[in-house]
Amino acid sequence: MSIPDSPPKSNADYSFSERMNIIWRCVFNRCPLCSQRGISRPFHFPKVCPNCGTIFDRGNGFLLSALPAVYFMFTIFWLIPLMVIFLKGQLSFPVTMGLILGGAILVPVLFFNYCKMLALALYYFFLPRELYHPETQDNLTS
Ligand SMILES: [Zn+2]
Repeated sequence: MSIPDSPPKSNADYSFSERMNIIWRCVFNRCPLCSQRGISRPFHFPKVCPNCGTIFDRGNGFLLSALPAVYFMFTIFWLIPLMVIFLKGQLSFPVTMGLILGGAILVPVLFFNYCKMLALALYYFFLPRELYHPETQDNLTS
C-alpha cells in the first residue's frame, strides 16, 4: 500500500475502505501512512516514522487514549480469563490473585506502546485528512 497521489482535502471525502486501511495498518503495527513495519516495540515508540517522517507523538497527551486501550486489553485478555478459570475451580485464590497482580504490571508495560498504535488508528480513522495533509494538523507542541 502506497501513499495516494492526490488524497482528498476534506475528511468527508475519504471512503470507509480508505479509513479501514488506516486502521489495519496500525493494528498490524505499521505506519498509518507508508506501511513501514515494526513501528512500536515494548520499550520503544518513535516520535516520527523512520521511513516517511510522519509525526506519531504530537505531545500534550495526543496519545493518551492508549491508556484506556491498554486497560481494556488487560481486562479482556488477562483478568476475565483468569476469573473464569478461578470460578471453575481450577486455580486457587492466592495463585489467581498473584497472576492478576503480575499481569496488572506486565500487560501495561508490554502493550502500552502497541496501544499507542491503536490510538493513532482511531484518531486517523476519524480525521484522515490530517494524516495525508500534515499541514492541517494543529500544532500541539507550542
Ligand atoms: Zn511512515
